[in-house]
Amino acid sequence: MHDGTSVLFDLPGFRVVECVELDAGTRRLVIMQVAEEHGCPRCGVMVSGKPYDVRESRIKDLPFGERRLVVIWRKRRYRCPRRDCQQRLFVERSSEVRPGRRSSERLRRALARADAQTRAYSRIAAEYGVSWWLVNDVAARAHAKLPAEPPPVRQLGIDETRTRRVRWHYDAVTCRWRRPEPWMTSLTNLDPADGRAILGLTPGRSSAAVCTWLKARSQHWRDGIEVVAIDPCAAYAAAVRKALPQATIVVDHFHLVRLANDTLTAVRRRVTWDNRDRRGRKVDPEWANRRRLLTARERLSPPRFATMWNACIDADPTGQILGAWIAKEEFRALLATAKRGGHPHEIRDAKYRFLTWCAQFSEVPEIVTLAETVDTWWTEIEAFCRLNITNARTEGSNRSIKSIKRVGCGFTNQDNYQRRILAHAIAQAAA
Ligand SMILES: [Zn+2]
Repeated sequence: MHDGTSVLFDLPGFRVVECVELDAGTRRLVIMQVAEEHGCPRCGVMVSGKPYDVRESRIKDLPFGERRLVVIWRKRRYRCPRRDCQQRLFVERSSEVRPGRRSSERLRRALARADAQTRAYSRIAAEYGVSWWLVNDVAARAHAKLPAEPPPVRQLGIDETRTRRVRWHYDAVTCRWRRPEPWMTSLTNLDPADGRAILGLTPGRSSAAVCTWLKARSQHWRDGIEVVAIDPCAAYAAAVRKALPQATIVVDHFHLVRLANDTLTAVRRRVTWDNRDRRGRKVDPEWANRRRLLTARERLSPPRFATMWNACIDADPTGQILGAWIAKEEFRALLATAKRGGHPHEIRDAKYRFLTWCAQFSEVPEIVTLAETVDTWWTEIEAFCRLNITNARTEGSNRSIKSIKRVGCGFTNQDNYQRRILAHAIAQAAA
C-alpha cells in the first residue's frame, strides 16, 4: 500500500495495508501497527518476527469522507518466549486503541468534546456513526475522573426542580403501583464572582435528601458555608440547621413576594365567590384587573393604578381586596429595605407597618395566614433584609437544567440526567 494513504489516515503507529470499496458503497480499510517488536504485558520481554496468529478486529474511528468507512485492525498475537511466564499468548497493544476497547482514542476525544455542547447523545451518536452507549460511556468515564467534592463556596442556594411528570407505573414484579420521584433538589453557588453555578443534585425534595448530600461533603467544605438561601420550606430549613449549624438561613426574595401575591389572589377569588356566588369572569372589575393587582406599585402608571383602585372599590365594598393589596405592598416595602443596605431600624419600622396593617384584617383569614407565615420565618426574612442574598442564580441554573431535559427529551435514568447537568455546569464554569 502506498504510504500516502497512511499519512492521510493519520493514526499514529499504524499503517494502512489495504483500502477497498465494497459493493454497498462502503469502504473497507485495513490497518496494522508499524512496530514489529512487541513486549509481553506480564514479563516485558520483547518479541518480534513471525506472530502466533493474526486476528482482525473492527475499530470504531472518526468518520472519514461521506460514505461509511469500516476500519479493521489486523492484530497480531505472539507467544511469550519465556518458559516461566504465565502469559502464554498476548496481542500487540497500542495507545491509540486501548486494550479491551473497540473505539479509537481520537474518536473518544471527539465524542467528549461534542458532549460539552448541549446536544442529545443520540444526535452525537448519529453524527459519528456510533451507538448511544459509547457516547454515554465516554461522558461517564470523563465525569468519574472529576473530583467528587465541589469547589468551596460561602453562599449556598437550595431549590427544587421538577424532573419529570407525575406518572404512576405498575410494577409487575412487586405487583404494586409506583410513582417515581418527580422532584430533584439542586444545590448552587450563589456567589456571582465564582464560576461554577450548580454544585450538586439530589433526588427528591425532602429534608433527608438534602441532609445526605450535605453530610457527604467534607467537614472543611461544610464549615466554609456562611449563608444558605432557601424557599420558605420547612424541610430544607431543618436539613440546613442539622448539617450546617453555623450557617445563616435566608429566605429567598422571589418566593416571599410570590407568597404575598398568592395571598392577594386568594382574597380576590374568595371575595368574588362571596359576592357573586361564582368564579370570576371578564365582566367582573376585580377579575379584569387581576394582573394590575399583582404588578408592583412602582411599575403601575398613575392611570393604570387609578383604574385598578377604582375597579376594586366598585367590586368589593368590604375593602378586603385592596386591604390585601396594601398588605402585599407593605410586605414588598419591608423586603425592599434589603436593597437600601438593610439598616436594622428601617427593617423594624417596615415590619411594624406591615404587621399593624395586617392586624386590621383579623377577619380576613388569608391576610392573617400571611402575617403568621412572616412571623414564623421572621429570623430568615430579617437575615435576607440584612444580607440581600437571593436565590436568583439558582433559578437561572434551573433554566439550564430544564434546557438539558428538553435536549434529551426527558431522561429515564436519573443518574445520567444528574451527570449531564453537572458536566454542563462544570464545562460552563471552565469556559
Ligand atoms: Zn511474558
